[in-house]
Amino acid sequence: MEKNGPAVSYMDGEGELLRYAPILGVLKKRFPSYVKGAEEAQRVSRAFAREAMAPIALEVDAKCAEDPTYVDWDFYRAAMQEHIPTAFIPEKLGGRGWSTLDLFNFSEEGCAACFGLTALIVFNMFGFICACVEFMPGVVLRMIKHMIAEEAKGNPVFFAWAITEPSGGTDAEHPAAMRTMRPSIEAKKVEGGYILNGTKCFITNGSLADFIVVNAPLDRGRPLETDCTFMVPAESQGFSVGKVERKSGQKACPTAELLFDEVFVPRENLWAPEGEGMRHTQEILSVTRGGVGAAAVGLARGVVERTVRYASHKKVNGHRLIDESWVQFALADIMKDIINLRHAWVDFAVAIDFYHVMQLMNNPLTDIALKIAPRGLLFSQALEDLAGTAPVNSLVVGLKKKLVPREAVENSILHGSALKAAGTDLAMRATSLCCDIVGLEGMRREYGIEKCFRDAKVTQIYEGTNQTNRLDVFEREVGYDF
Ligand SMILES: Cc1cc2nc3c(=O)[nH]c(=O)nc-3n(C[C@H](O)[C@H](O)[C@H](O)COP(=O)(O)OP(=O)(O)OC[C@H]3O[C@@H](n4cnc5c(N)ncnc54)[C@H](O)[C@@H]3O)c2cc1C
Repeated sequence: MEKNGPAVSYMDGEGELLRYAPILGVLKKRFPSYVKGAEEAQRVSRAFAREAMAPIALEVDAKCAEDPTYVDWDFYRAAMQEHIPTAFIPEKLGGRGWSTLDLFNFSEEGCAACFGLTALIVFNMFGFICACVEFMPGVVLRMIKHMIAEEAKGNPVFFAWAITEPSGGTDAEHPAAMRTMRPSIEAKKVEGGYILNGTKCFITNGSLADFIVVNAPLDRGRPLETDCTFMVPAESQGFSVGKVERKSGQKACPTAELLFDEVFVPRENLWAPEGEGMRHTQEILSVTRGGVGAAAVGLARGVVERTVRYASHKKVNGHRLIDESWVQFALADIMKDIINLRHAWVDFAVAIDFYHVMQLMNNPLTDIALKIAPRGLLFSQALEDLAGTAPVNSLVVGLKKKLVPREAVENSILHGSALKAAGTDLAMRATSLCCDIVGLEGMRREYGIEKCFRDAKVTQIYEGTNQTNRLDVFEREVGYDF
């Protein structure tokens, strides 16, 4: 049998999305272009995952095991040719106009083929979300234009989001924990801006990043009260990349230590002012944790697909392994959880598109504005300058605050944390079970099952450990003062 080819899907028909998320059939009646867009995004994502990711997944994993700084640029260029790294940008501005639903679809499809290669692309998009969360129109427009212009020249643009400290990652994600942490990094106010000194660690795509969104307090002794968010271009003097980690899974996507030595950050690159850094972090997590849940569902599906393929050929007791009823029950048990959690991520993604920050893109006014505005105007310096003026900035930022109040963010953290913990626990359970079913061959690299196992373990740790995600659920369900 073919060992390292695209996994045969048990989900291989047309109209998959509506079959697995029937609620989208209802939505299609009210918002036909939204759901048709998602069906198209799934078709594109699945084709890309099978043709560009699955065939190289094991080879890239092996190369990265030897050299953790290795990046498969041919793969990334293929993704750029399909406009996938910029897919979230509106079509009129040069992207594919993908919604959160479409991006989560890409995460599921991609991670069924290779988590590491998908992470290389998707976590870069998450990095850009860090920019969008504040929704400063001048900044967002400038970044979008830069990414599209560079993509046309074949140059990738990478973003990283750096909150984790050598002293601890959980503390940087949780308000109560941050109160008592003593960060290594600190920002000092100076004429015209700030000076950053310190270290961040385990930062996804940190060694590739052109722009780093980084949190630092003005006073190490009062981190929560003085935490800020800055945008640091990687070319800034005093910024450097430390060690690139040799990690167990998701090797195709590098993770690095970032060093800040007297790095000057101009005032206009302060994205969340003093005391607002944790709010910024939580708004990002309120979107991205659900995305990790969708990706983990894809990983669980991918390992089940590989196992079904293996067990359909493997002979035991004179028949196929897949004919054993214990194998069918065990796999069906995972499949039922995949189906249930897919409903959960679809639900979550639609909520982000219509009730969270993406509603600024998914509303009739934005649609009309993008439709009638000539392309030349959208790309003009005059519009960028206007969008960057203080009155336009405060108008849009104020609108975003009204549309996405604190309760919406809190609700999204509740659902996103539940989805992240459930999805990644499922991925771990599925990969462990599939190793058991396949037996010793599951431990051989060429079947890709042990790689899924290594990839799954990492998902339980980042975006907050699953313990932290559970605590976030508990605190929102039971309360903080118990
Ligand atoms: C592959 C990979 C990619 C990553 N990418 C990024 C990135 O792009 N950007 C970024 O900023 N970070 C990134 N991280 C870091 C990640 O977010 C942290 O690893 C994670 O938040 C956990 O932090 P920690 O490892 O420091 O564990 P710690 O915070 O040191 O926790 C250790 C243990 O103590 C528990 N614990 C800690 N605090 C509490 C508490 N208050 N109450 C109860 N239990 C607690 C934890 O659950 C855990 O079991 C990445 C990590 C990995 C592995």
